[in-house]
Amino acid sequence: MMSKLEKTYLDYAATTPLDPRVLAVMQPFFNEKYGNPSSVHTLGQQAEAAVETARETLASLLNCSPMEIFFTSCGSESDNLALRGTAFAARQIRKATHILISPVEHDAISFTAKQLAHVFGFELEYLPVNEYGQVTAESVKAHLREDTAVVSVMFANNEIGSINPIREIGKICREKNIPFHTDAVQAAAHLSIDTSDLNVDLLSLGAHKLYGPKGIGALYIRQGTPILPAQTGGGQEKNMRAGTSNVAFIVGQSEAFRLGKDEQHINHDHIIPLRDKLIKNVLAKIPDVKLTGHPEDRLPNHASFVFKNVDGNELLMMLDNAGFACSSGSACKTGNPEPSEVLNAIGLSREWGLGSLRVTLGKHTTEEDISRFLEILPQLISDNRSMRGF
Ligand SMILES: *Cc1c(COP(=O)(O)O)cnc(C)c1O
Repeated sequence: MMSKLEKTYLDYAATTPLDPRVLAVMQPFFNEKYGNPSSVHTLGQQAEAAVETARETLASLLNCSPMEIFFTSCGSESDNLALRGTAFAARQIRKATHILISPVEHDAISFTAKQLAHVFGFELEYLPVNEYGQVTAESVKAHLREDTAVVSVMFANNEIGSINPIREIGKICREKNIPFHTDAVQAAAHLSIDTSDLNVDLLSLGAHKLYGPKGIGALYIRQGTPILPAQTGGGQEKNMRAGTSNVAFIVGQSEAFRLGKDEQHINHDHIIPLRDKLIKNVLAKIPDVKLTGHPEDRLPNHASFVFKNVDGNELLMMLDNAGFACSSGSACKTGNPEPSEVLNAIGLSREWGLGSLRVTLGKHTTEEDISRFLEILPQLISDNRSMRGF
């Protein structure tokens, strides 16, 4: 039996360990190069140069101008700024108050949209999704209105892994000149993002799903997109986001993205066969199981299931005791005894939806990890069902 400390980590969609090479480039900015990038003196200029170099790096990876990159404190903040900022600007400039989002967004979007509706008087409408939780361009076209303030559809779903047709959705929005935002926090850890080819106006990023530090993010804002800042104060980030720049983390984030792109193929070649082996065996070995999310259009490291008549939270604890760190749906929803919004949106009944399991792999996952996981899971599922009288 493994001790609790030697857990096998299969929860890379919740967060990832910091790459030591990222830590190494961050380190000098805590004590040697500690200047404030807004200061005029040399130490300040040194910090400013580091921030601007990090901006250029990220911009070149995303194929956009450095002017279009805005650093934030996390993926959630990027989502907040994108949605609230464009909604307020649209209302001010063209009296548009209709907001369109998918029903499977991360809480950082869905709760922001609900607040805009309940507190600030916007009209919130949800786009339909298919059984895999995907939005189609046709349905965006059917729901888009003259007075739509902003459309937000996530790139890839954190809970069930499905990837949306962002380029096609963006095309529809651009034809009507309506700002389109995508939450790419999960997608950017695994897929190449080319903003010049995606028809997006705003795109959220975060570093910690990609072996970067927690507590840093970025927002791409296409030049000319009407948006109001959410945080006012000093003129940092071209007046879009006040606050002394988190230099070390900004530098670390860009290094994480640089390494991620450089090593994407190596990581895919390693992870995809393991992920496929996991999915194939779980579906073959365990009765009453379904894969959630799209079988092919899904994140390369992502496997997610529902088991009929299983208590997902109980299962997580049993897995934890057996030495495996997994998740049921999104990390933020752990402890909630109701099926997640995402599982409700894809039409699963309660007897299925309560038994969800998300297994997400990373570059440190080994063949042996997956074999051991597959050895114990069928028994744990069977025990869990027995405990509940099934
Ligand atoms: C993790 C995540 C976020 C939030 O990012 P933080 O940096 O943790 O705030 C937003 N959206 C998606 C899809 C995510 O996976």
